[in-house]
Amino acid sequence: MTAVTPQTPVKQLFIDNRWVDAAGGRTFEDVNPATGETLAQIAEASADDVDRAVRAARRAFDEGPWRKMKAMERAALLRKVGELILQRKDELIQLESMDSGKPVRESSTLDVPRSALNFIWFAEYITKVTNECVPVDGQFLHYEVRDPVGVAALITPWNFPMLLATWKIGPCLAAGNTCVLKPASVTPLTALALGDIVADAGLPEGVFNVLTGPGSTIGTALVSHPGVDLVSFTGETTTGQSIIAAAGPSLKRVSFELGGKAPNLIFKTADLDAAVAGSLRSAFFNQGEVCLATPRFLVEESIYDAFLDKFVAAARALKLGDPLDPATEMGPLVSKQHYDRVTRYVQQGREEGAHLVTGGEPPPGLDRGYFLQPTIFTDVNQEMIICREEIFGPVCTIQPVKSEDDAIRLANDTPYGLDATVWTNDLRQAHRVSAALVVGTVWVNCWFVRDLRVPFGGAKASGIGREGGKYSWEFYTEAKNICIAL
Ligand code: NAD
Repeated sequence: MTAVTPQTPVKQLFIDNRWVDAAGGRTFEDVNPATGETLAQIAEASADDVDRAVRAARRAFDEGPWRKMKAMERAALLRKVGELILQRKDELIQLESMDSGKPVRESSTLDVPRSALNFIWFAEYITKVTNECVPVDGQFLHYEVRDPVGVAALITPWNFPMLLATWKIGPCLAAGNTCVLKPASVTPLTALALGDIVADAGLPEGVFNVLTGPGSTIGTALVSHPGVDLVSFTGETTTGQSIIAAAGPSLKRVSFELGGKAPNLIFKTADLDAAVAGSLRSAFFNQGEVCLATPRFLVEESIYDAFLDKFVAAARALKLGDPLDPATEMGPLVSKQHYDRVTRYVQQGREEGAHLVTGGEPPPGLDRGYFLQPTIFTDVNQEMIICREEIFGPVCTIQPVKSEDDAIRLANDTPYGLDATVWTNDLRQAHRVSAALVVGTVWVNCWFVRDLRVPFGGAKASGIGREGGKYSWEFYTEAKNICIAL
C-alpha cells in the first residue's frame, strides 16, 4: 500500500446537501485493488453521524417539499440526476473501475449507464402509475392511495457499487421517501460522487445522504435507529440475518437481496458453443463477483468431456489485466481481504480432494494487485464446501449428471435460491426444468439479461421480497385503502 500523501483526496460524509467531516474526525483508506495504492482517505462515520444523517432525512421527509411535490416536478429532478450521471460518465466509469477492479468494458456498458437509467426510468414511472379502484357490492366505493413510507436506510455491497445503490435510490426517492445510503467501505467513491450530482440536480436538502464507515457499527446503528422506517439491503446472507435482528424490534419494513450459489444446468440438447460462451460469462463476469454468478456446473454425462475441453480452453484464453484497459476481460478481486478469502476456498477445494483443472494462482506478470486466474474444479461432490458455500470469485465446479432429474435434484440441493441457468434447445425440457427449480430467476440459453420491469430477487436464503418496476414501487410505498359510503 502506498503512503497517504497530502495529495491523497479526502472524502467527507454527505448530509443535508453538504460535505462534512465525521464527528470523531476519523478516516480510513480506500485502496485500488489493481495496484494496492491508496485512492482516497474516507471519512469514518460513527453513531453520532448516523443520528445526524437520519435527522436530516427525517426533517426532509416530515417538513420538506419532497413528498408533497407534484409527481411531474419530482420526476424532473430525478431525470436531471440521470442526465448528470450520463454527462459525467467518463469520470464515473474510471472511478468505478479503479475502486472495484471491474474492467471498464463492464463499467462503461453496464454499471454507469444503468445507474442513470435507474433514475430516468423511475422518474418516468411515477408520472404513469395508477392505483386500483375496487368495485364492491352495496353503496360503497373502495380506492387505493399509495403514500411514501418515510426515511429509508439503503445498504449496498461492493460488486456493483453504483448500479446497486441507484437501483434502490431511484425508486425510493421517486416514491417520495428520503434516504441515508451506506455503501460498502471498499468501494465508496461513486456513491460519494452521487452527493454532488444530487445537489447539482437541485434535490432539496436532506433528501439524499451518504454515510461511509464500517457496517458492523454504523450499519447496525442505522438499521436500528428509531427515525428509520424501512431498510433495503443487498449483501451477504449472514449480514442480512444481523440486520433483521437489529431492525426487528422496531418492526421496520425490509427488502433483502442476499447471497447465491447458482447452478448452471447444461443438457445434451444444448447448443454446446452457446453454452460454453454463456457459461464463461456466468462464471467469470466481474471476476465472478456477482450474486447471480452460476459457479455450480451440472453437465449431462454424454457431453461432459466435450463441454469441459472447450470450457477450460475458453477460460484459459480470458484476458486479465488493468481494469482501465478496454481490452481487459477480468480485473483484480476487490480487495486483499477478499482475495485471501477466495484463495482459502481454492486451498480447501484441493484439501477436500477436488481436481484443480486450471487456475488457482495469480496470472504470470501481474504481481501487483489482487488478480486470480479463472479457476475450475472437477471431481467434486455435493458435500464439498466449494460446492456448497458462496465463494464470490472466479471459481467454479463442474460435475457430470446422469439425467434431467439428477440435475434438478442437485440444483435445488442448496440453501440459496437466487437464480439458475439452463442450456437446452428442447422447448419442453426448458419449461419442465424451469418449473422445477426453486429460484427467483431462471435464465434459459442466456444469463444476466435484466429489465427494470421484471421481478428481481431470491428464494430461500437468497432474499426477502423483490425489486424492479412495480415490485420496488410496492416496497417504497404504503398502500392505503379509502372506503367511501355513497
Ligand atoms: P456484506 O454483507 O459484507 O456487506 C454489504 C453491506 O452491508 C456493506 O455496505 C457493509 O458495510 C454492510 N454491513 C455489514 N455488516 C452490517 C451490519 N451488521 N449491519 C448493517 N450493515 C452491515 O456484502 P459484500 O461482501 O459487500 O457483498 C457481497 C455479498 O453481496 C455476496 O454475498 C453477494 O451474493 C451479495 N450480493 C447479492 C446481490 C443480490 O441482488 N442478491 C447483489 C450483489 C451482491
